[in-house]
Amino acid sequence: MRREIIVFLTVVPAMLAAGQSPSSAPIFGFGPETSKAEQTWEARFKTIPDAKRVHANMQHLAAHPHNVGSDYQRQNAEWLVARYKEWGWDAHIERFDVLYPTPKERVLELVSPSHFVAKMDEPPLAEDPYTHEKSTQLPGYNVYSADGDVTAPLVYVNNGMPADYEVLQRHNISVSGAIVIARYGGGWRGLKPKLAAEHGAVGCIIYSDPADDGYAQAEVLPKGPMRPPGGIQRGSVSDTTLYPGDPLTPGIGSVPGAKRLKISEAETIMKIPVLPIGYGDAEPLLKALAGPVVPAEWRGGLPMTYHFGPGPAKVHLKLVSAWGQKPVLDVIATMKGSEEPDVWIVRGNHYDAWVNGADDPISGQSALLEEARALGELAKQGWRPKRTLIYTAWDGEEPGLIGSTEWAEAHAEELSKHAALYVNSDENGRGFFGAGGSHELEELVNSVTKDIVDPETNVSVWKRQQAALLVRGGRRGGGTPSQDALSQTTLPIEAIGSGSDFAAFLDHFGIASLSIGYGGEDRSGTYHSAYDTPWFTDQFGDKEEVYGPVLAQTAGVLVMRFASADVLPYDFTSMAHTLKQYDREVKELVKSLQREAETRNRNIEMRLYAITDDPKQGLQPPPSLVAPPDVDFSSLDEAIASLEKAATHFNAARAGMGMLNAEKRKELNAELTTVDRKLLGDAGLPRRTWVKNLIYAPGTYAGYGVKTLPGVREALEQGRFTEATEQLVIVNKAIGDEANYIEALVAKFGAGQ
Ligand SMILES: [Zn+2]
Repeated sequence: MRREIIVFLTVVPAMLAAGQSPSSAPIFGFGPETSKAEQTWEARFKTIPDAKRVHANMQHLAAHPHNVGSDYQRQNAEWLVARYKEWGWDAHIERFDVLYPTPKERVLELVSPSHFVAKMDEPPLAEDPYTHEKSTQLPGYNVYSADGDVTAPLVYVNNGMPADYEVLQRHNISVSGAIVIARYGGGWRGLKPKLAAEHGAVGCIIYSDPADDGYAQAEVLPKGPMRPPGGIQRGSVSDTTLYPGDPLTPGIGSVPGAKRLKISEAETIMKIPVLPIGYGDAEPLLKALAGPVVPAEWRGGLPMTYHFGPGPAKVHLKLVSAWGQKPVLDVIATMKGSEEPDVWIVRGNHYDAWVNGADDPISGQSALLEEARALGELAKQGWRPKRTLIYTAWDGEEPGLIGSTEWAEAHAEELSKHAALYVNSDENGRGFFGAGGSHELEELVNSVTKDIVDPETNVSVWKRQQAALLVRGGRRGGGTPSQDALSQTTLPIEAIGSGSDFAAFLDHFGIASLSIGYGGEDRSGTYHSAYDTPWFTDQFGDKEEVYGPVLAQTAGVLVMRFASADVLPYDFTSMAHTLKQYDREVKELVKSLQREAETRNRNIEMRLYAITDDPKQGLQPPPSLVAPPDVDFSSLDEAIASLEKAATHFNAARAGMGMLNAEKRKELNAELTTVDRKLLGDAGLPRRTWVKNLIYAPGTYAGYGVKTLPGVREALEQGRFTEATEQLVIVNKAIGDEANYIEALVAKFGAGQ
């Protein structure tokens, strides 16, 4: 109650501060008349989300461990369905049975030069009652690791990323036949065992170094929020850059009777055993390493000297899993559209966790629920979305985006035809707004964030985002301050690749997608551990849940605008401008790869490495590089220019399109819904046919990280220059098709009547 009043009182000054007048300007995508009515509904909607309810949702959903297949997860699913029904939605559970291994046996021991057995246990905290529920906690493990029983010398590989292997090569250190120990960070966790295996390692240990989220950052639990020595980061090592979801059913829903691969055929399952541990267990292993001392960037926060190895430390690693099927229970709630029910807006956040998951994912899920309740409340007062809303709670995100992927694959045909927007959130916290996704939605996102008040500063969340760009280059800080942001009326959204439930919608189905959330202020070292509990949130997180209602307002208003706009609020000029930037980037990439190869090869030829390296260290020169040839990007320039032209024509015709009669508008919006499917490649990307989006994709050697114009960019980066030119032809055609499609819509509907 208290919060609603605060929000109400601050709406007007904050909007003025953001350069917006509260009622005169029509909302993007609306004519003036509908805009006024819509603003009234939005104002009403924004008063409904209640922090206390968000907090109660969190306490309920995160009360017990609720990983995939657990009893409490099933109870949560049923509870969610009951809530949605209570709020006036149609709701049901959709079940998929998927491969989900759980550990049966985990052994990690140092066998020489001394003996030490890793505990791999997260001791309960006296202060936190949730951490005592050991019987239902999943132990620390990396799901989709291979089983194995190996004994081998240990090698420290820093983050275990491609650049780290270059350093190892310079030092003449091979990991072939070894077990590597990598620290978390630097890139996606699954890349560590994948690269280790590619370099011949037989096992992989991943540990959380105190420099990254332990005592080097702040006090550890229970005194402070950072990771204690026993804290383990669980997580999936399924290779979701190839395809997410059930490893046994790529491209199709895991429904009864679906054709399943054999486990040995599943490309996404890791080829070597991999196990995560805390720094308490890692320290004795690392201390037993000898060999050269590592470079400064490789040193973590443990009170010891870090060596590469190999040996004399020798490690025994044994993993045995139960490779069974487990149910994944998606909760699907629908509110049917009044005028264009065949245009769908899908909104989702996962609700499965590694353990209690009060932060990841329940902080986001609790807010999403409050958003759904508020929309239900609004519907009771007479509001109806013109288009159909599908609100979801995804199960199985943690092991590999399984619930969202299987649901999307099971509904492939309908989604391809009807889905116009997917909006994702995941964990949510105090701080700054952040958004990533399809750039035709950039303008919509900006129009919404200018109308949402930041509860800590009472300016719009847009204004606060702008301030962060101006002062520290972005919400995470550490970036280059961007003075452009001062004159910009549209702040950029980021590109996204994978790492949460938008992947199937964006990467495979080409559905315009967004991933949004707040954060950047509260520190925590509990990620994917048994210490991510409601007690922790109350102690160190957003215990007043100030940002829960703000996320509900933001996503809710965004969905309302999209659901009710006269013409679907895509702005293709933002897309064209962003593509121009990617075009510049790939051109620059060719140049920088050429420069790098030229310098490196000259240095090798002139024996400069041999002359500068300390001869006592016996370093190898780095390998020589092959420079890419010059690439003719003129057809990409032309394709983007044609898209920009089409986008400008579309925007000029938008107001007229908004005046079309309801039948015509319905026809237009139905066609607009599928516009982004033009940006899919039928054959998918090279060596990963599931990933079809030609503009955004997760990087093969970046994991969650996005690669834009991925076919071209990755081929260049990985030295496949013929493939780069082949991929260029494919993406040029897709962008050209998109432009033609938009021009055709303008020709058909743009005259107005
Ligand atoms: Zn999550």
